[in-house]
Amino acid sequence: MISVKEAKSIIQGKIFKLDSEVVPLDRSMGRIIFEDIVATFPSPRFNNSAMDGFAVRSSDIIGASNQNPITLKNIGISSAGVPSDLILNEGECMQCMTGAIIPSGSDAIVMVEHTTGFSDDPNVEIMIEVQPESHIRKRGEEIQKGDKLISKGTHITPSEIGICATFGYGELNVSKKPKIAIFGTGNELVAPGENLKEGEIYNSNLYVFSDLVGKAGGEVLMQDVLKDNKSYLESFLSEALKSCDVVISSGGVSMGRFDYVRDVFIDLGVEEHFWKVAQKPGRPLFFGTGNKTLIIGLPGNPVSSYIGFMIWVWPIINEMMGTDKVKSIEAELTEPFPVENIKYRYLFGKAWIENGKVLCKPSRKIGSHMLTSSLNANCIIGAEPSDIKLSSGDSILINLLPWKIIE
Ligand code: AMP
Ligand code: MG
Repeated sequence: MISVKEAKSIIQGKIFKLDSEVVPLDRSMGRIIFEDIVATFPSPRFNNSAMDGFAVRSSDIIGASNQNPITLKNIGISSAGVPSDLILNEGECMQCMTGAIIPSGSDAIVMVEHTTGFSDDPNVEIMIEVQPESHIRKRGEEIQKGDKLISKGTHITPSEIGICATFGYGELNVSKKPKIAIFGTGNELVAPGENLKEGEIYNSNLYVFSDLVGKAGGEVLMQDVLKDNKSYLESFLSEALKSCDVVISSGGVSMGRFDYVRDVFIDLGVEEHFWKVAQKPGRPLFFGTGNKTLIIGLPGNPVSSYIGFMIWVWPIINEMMGTDKVKSIEAELTEPFPVENIKYRYLFGKAWIENGKVLCKPSRKIGSHMLTSSLNANCIIGAEPSDIKLSSGDSILINLLPWKIIE
C-alpha cells in the first residue's frame, strides 16, 4: 500500500498531453484552447447607436425641452446592418436604431422617447438637449485591433466562445478530447428499468462515470457492464487498450474470489504501477499503463467509485487536455471529521459561506456503499492521515464539485 502523495506522483510521471485539433467553433465548448485569440478588429468596429432614437447635431438642439421643443428635418433611416449614406446638415436629423452606424454629420443620439417618435413625417420635435457623443458607442472604446483577448491554455466557457464568435473565429485550435472506455464488473449488476432478482442490484456507477467523463471534458468511446468472467473482460479490455487514451473500471479490483480485473489487465500486458493506496474509501485502486493508455481500476462501492473518479481520474483528464490542476480550498469544519491513522480520508460534504468564511461539514453517512451521501454535497472533504482528531472550528481542505454552487 502506498500513500496518496506517492500515488499522485507516480501518476504525474505517466500522464501524457493530447495533441490539438482544429474544430468548428460550435464544437469547441468545454475544450482547452491551443492558440492565443487576438482582436481581429477594434470593438466596436464602427461608431454606432446605443439606443433607438434620432441622430442629431447636438448644437442644433441646445435648450430643447418639453416646454420648448425644437423641430428638426427627418432625412432618413440608419438601421442595424443597413446604413444610410446621407450626411446630416444643420437643422436635420436621422432615425437611427440600436447598433446602426452613426450617420456622418451627426454627433449624438436622442432617445426616441424624447421626441415625437418614428414616422415618415419630415418634421420631428426634439424635447431634450444632449451632450456631444450621447448614446454613441465609439469605435475601439472596448478593444483595439490586435489586443490579446484569450490566452492559450484557457478553458472554453460561454464567455470565451462568445468572444471568439464576436471576433469572427469560425474554427479553433483546441485540445483533443481524451477517448475513454468505462466499464463496470459484477454478476449482480442489472440495468435500471429491468427487474431485480434476489441478490441483484442496479448498476449506478457507469451512469455516474459517463456524466463525469463528459463534465471533465472527455468522450466516452466504449462502455459496458461485464460479468465477473475473464474472457468477457479480456475482449472488452483488449479493444479498449487499442482505441482509448484512458480506461476506467469500477469493481473487481479487490481481494474477492471473482475480482479478475487486475489479473486481466496484467495478462494483457498492462504495466502495473500500484493497486493499493492508503485512502478511505477506495483502498484497492489500480493504476497501470498500456502502450498508449492510462488504466485506472476503481473499486465498485458507489462512493469509492465516485470519489475515486473525482480525486484520481478528473485531474488526469484535465491534465491530458492541458488544463490547470484542480485546486483545493481551505474551509472551517462545523462538525468533527473522522480522520484516519494511516489512510487519507475522503467524504462528501457540504460547504457554504457565512460571514465571509467558507464553512463545511462532512456527510453523516460515512459508508462507501451509501451513495445518498452525495445527494446534498457540493464538495469532497479530504484529510491527511493523522493521530490528531479534527473538530468543529479546525480547518480542512475541500474540493468543490465544479458543477455545484456554494451558497
Ligand atoms: P467490488 O469492488 O466488485 O468488490 O464491488 C464492491 C461493491 O460495489 C459491491 O457491493 C458491488 O455490488 C458494488 N458495485 C460494484 N459495481 C457496481 C456498480 N456498477 N454499480 C453499483 N454498485 C456496484
Ligand atoms: Mg464485484
